[in-house]
Parts: sequence; structure tokens; C-alpha cells
Amino acid sequence: MASAQDELVFLPLGGLGEIGMNAALYGFGPEMNRQWILVDCGMGFGGEENLPGIDVVYPDLRFIEEERHNLLGIFITHAHEDHIGALVEMWPRLRAPVYVTRFAAGLLETRRLNEPNAPKIELKEIAPGQHIKAGPFDIEYVPVAHSIPESNALAIRTPLGLVVHTGDWKLDPTPYLGSLTSEEAFRHLGDEGVLALVCDSTNVVREGESPSEADVSKNLAALIKDAPHRVAVTTFASNVARIRSVAEAARECGREVVIVGRAMERVADVATECGFLEGLPEFRSPDAFGYLPRDKVVALLTGSQGEPRAALARIAQDEHPDIALSAGDRVIFSSRAIPGNERAIGAIINSLVEQGIEIITDRTELVHVSGHPRRGELAQMYRWTRPKIAIPAHGEALHLAEHAKFARAQGAQEVVQARNGTLVRLAPGLAEIIDRLPAGRLYKDGNIVIAAGERALPERRKLAFAGIVTVAIAIDDRGELAGDPIVDAMGLPEKNRQGEIMLDLIADVVGDVLKGLPKARRRDPEAVETAVHRGVRSAVNEAWGKKPACHVLVVEV
Ligand SMILES: [Zn+2]
Ligand SMILES: [Zn+2]
Repeated sequence: MASAQDELVFLPLGGLGEIGMNAALYGFGPEMNRQWILVDCGMGFGGEENLPGIDVVYPDLRFIEEERHNLLGIFITHAHEDHIGALVEMWPRLRAPVYVTRFAAGLLETRRLNEPNAPKIELKEIAPGQHIKAGPFDIEYVPVAHSIPESNALAIRTPLGLVVHTGDWKLDPTPYLGSLTSEEAFRHLGDEGVLALVCDSTNVVREGESPSEADVSKNLAALIKDAPHRVAVTTFASNVARIRSVAEAARECGREVVIVGRAMERVADVATECGFLEGLPEFRSPDAFGYLPRDKVVALLTGSQGEPRAALARIAQDEHPDIALSAGDRVIFSSRAIPGNERAIGAIINSLVEQGIEIITDRTELVHVSGHPRRGELAQMYRWTRPKIAIPAHGEALHLAEHAKFARAQGAQEVVQARNGTLVRLAPGLAEIIDRLPAGRLYKDGNIVIAAGERALPERRKLAFAGIVTVAIAIDDRGELAGDPIVDAMGLPEKNRQGEIMLDLIADVVGDVLKGLPKARRRDPEAVETAVHRGVRSAVNEAWGKKPACHVLVVEV
């Protein structure tokens, strides 16, 4: 039973306004004393944001870190990195039990064993269909089809109503492996009465319905079968259905499968443990690739996103210790470029094509299908669940806005365009945004996690754009130079347009500036620093059209 002060609130901390780093809180109770559950704890990729040296971003969970005594549990919908990838880093700040399926638990565990200092996370394994009671919440795992095994929507029951948090899902009557999105289950929820539907927006801009994984599988099999020589297939390591289709296709035509890349090896191990690869011949290790006949092998590779250290990139550069491809071999990209990765992928494709290798992508062949619902599928979900409130989630601004329009057209009475940090009251009363709370991103920089506001990143960007000049000057107590100033530079062109050496030019300017300073001023290190700094930047700007960073070190001797 809810008391008069109780409220049910939704507070996304990641994933609304970007695709990635999903993390959403649901809270229940009176304003000053809410209890919370966290749904997903994912990471994002920094590559697209022009952040030199940052590959991974995490949601800023400050709000719930401070409230962690009221955090009842972390509920993971599925094992994609944008849903679990921040757990290892962020869990020690939260320390609440983490509910996961067996497959997700297996992946987290192998990762822990492979990462020194990874914390031992308190995992609670759940089964599909299971209910977990946590304070005022009753959370039911409802299986859905997606591009990784054991994906779930969550039916979150509270004294103030039922929220369906879809997680990532699609409709696929023949998913090849894994769960179906059950019409019956979602209709039942609809009959029970859905207060709010928090739903995947990734493909809301696409009409119709996604093709089935089974069709992809059929097509992949044909492409593997009629390949004259070696075949390499690159796909998302976590897509076990795809790994299985490739393995079955290989068996059909008498080829052996070699798994290449650590991420894929790990997934294959966990998938085997969970029984998803049952009945298939064992995979071969990469060193077998060299001696298997060219028409008797299929390599499954990591690196479909162009990651420079992954197997495919290294093979394209002919730098892989075990795997080499040659003219006439076929590489299938059973994947789609995540926005931001197109260039890196393009470079790999071009390099392979130059070597005479045949490339097949989803632009011309059905070799990949998204795991997210298109408009036709979304319409079904709205028909089944008939929510009073719709909250578009899992999307960039455009996706969320399109989804909001779409949800209204599907009959949702209230549509809330929430963003990371908006506190939405779902009940009682009309749904509305009642507060804005701290949210944002953290960056994984080397092995340190830093806040978005830190100086290091704008500095690094500046250095990348215009380099740096360093000047060291020694001055004695009479204001005389003790030896010649030392000038060095990084990231500047060697010569100006007239062919003069840039460093000489800078040294001359430093000399002139110092000469021009009255002796009394030269005894003031700060004054020297300012004058040299200004002189060097303006001289380089004149010569080059860019102003580098400039460090002036004045030493008093
Ligand atoms: Zn997913
Ligand atoms: Zn996702």
C-alpha cells in the first residue's frame, strides 16, 4: 500500500540523449526518504567525442553514490557493454547486489579474472521469468529477443503502478538463438495495466520491421559456402546467435572455425558453458589457421568497429601473429558501424580491398540485422502494453523526439521527454519533470576515472591542434641573461612558408623580447614570462596562422 506522501519517480543517469552508458533509477517513497533501484550500469564510447586518449565514458552516478544506503539493488537487463560495461568501475562506489542472468554473470566473471584489481561484485543470478522483491519494488525479468542471449525487459511493480522498462529488444519470430519477445507476456502486462513504458528508441526512425536473425543466418551460410578460398567473418563478439550461425554454416560445408580475438574467445567460452553452442564441433585456436587448407577454414574475428588493436585491424595491416589473408579470400562484415567508427572501418576495408580481398558488408547483402525495434515493432509493443505514460529511452536527441511523436500517435496519454538527470514523477498525478539532479559523464583516462570538467582534456585537444613551444631562460640577480635561452617545440611545422626554420625564428623572437625589456623588468620572472609568452605566440601565429601553447620557464640563478 502506498501512503499519501509516496511517489514513484524515474531518474535516468545515462542513455537518454545518447546511445550508450545506460543507467536508470526508479525511486519510491516520500520525497525525503526514497528507496531506489538502478536498472543497468553501462559504459559509452569516447571515440566520437573528439576526446584525445579517451575510449570509454561512464555515467556520473554521484546522485546514487550519495544515496547508496537507499539503493536496494542493481538490475541488469542484458550483457551488452552499454548496459553492464560500467559495473566493474562503478560498483565499488555503490556496493548493492547486482541481479544478472547466468550468461551476463559468466561474462562479468571472466572479465574479472582477466583484469587485475577488478572488484568481486556481489552477483545474484536470476532466471528468466523470475520475480525479485526489493523493498516496495517487485521486479520481473521478461525475456525479449535481442542481439545477445538472455535479454530481458523488466516489469517493475510498485504500490503506485507497473512500469515496463523494455531494455533493448526487437521482435523476431525466428531469432535463431535465445528468447522470443512474447506477445502473450506483454499483452498480460497490458491487461494488468501499464502505468509507464520506458522503451528503446534506437531504430524509431526506421519504418517497418527488422529482418529476422534466421534470414541473416541463411544468407551468411550461402556466402560461406560459395567462397572459393578463406572466409573471415567479423561481428560483435557478444552476438552468440551470429557465432552459432557461422559455426553451423562452416560445418555444413566442411570448414573449421577459428576464433580470433580475446573478446570473442571469452564470449565463446561463456556461451559454451551456458549451452548456447551445444552440438557444434569445437573451435580451433588461431595457430591452426596457418595449416588448414584455404577452403577448409572460417575465421571469426573481433574488430568489426575498426578498433585498432583488434584482430581484424591487425590482419588488415598484416601484423597478426597467426592470421594472414591473401587475394581471393572473403571478409564478411556481419555488423553495422556504430556512429563515429565509420572512418576507422573504411580504412580497414580499403586496405583489404587493395590486397585483393573480397569484402561483403550489409550495404549489399543481408549479413547483419539490428537488435532494436523499428516502427512496426514499436507499434506492436504499444498495442500490447497500452501504457498511460510513455518515456522514450535508449537514443540520441533525434531518436527520443521522434519516439515521443510516435508514442502520442500510438495513444499514450502522457509522453515525457526525459533526459539524463531529469527526475520524473510517474505517480501520483500527471507525469512530470519535478527536478534536475546531477548527471553527466566520467572519462576513463588510462586507468584513472576523471570528471568531465577536468583541464586535461581541453588541454590535450589544444595540444593536438597547435602543439607546444617551450622556452627556458636563466636570469641572474642583476637581470642579465645567464647563457642563451633554450627553445624547443612539439607539433609545429619545421619551416615557415619562406623556408626559415621555425625554431630559429622563435629563438630570435625570444632574444628580441628579452633585449626590449628594461633591466628592472627582467628581474621579475613573471614579467619575463608574460612578455616571452606573448611574443612567441604572436610571432608563430604570424608565421603559421596558428597559436601553439607556450611554456616559459624562467630560472633565477
Ligand atoms: Zn543491447
Ligand atoms: Zn543498448
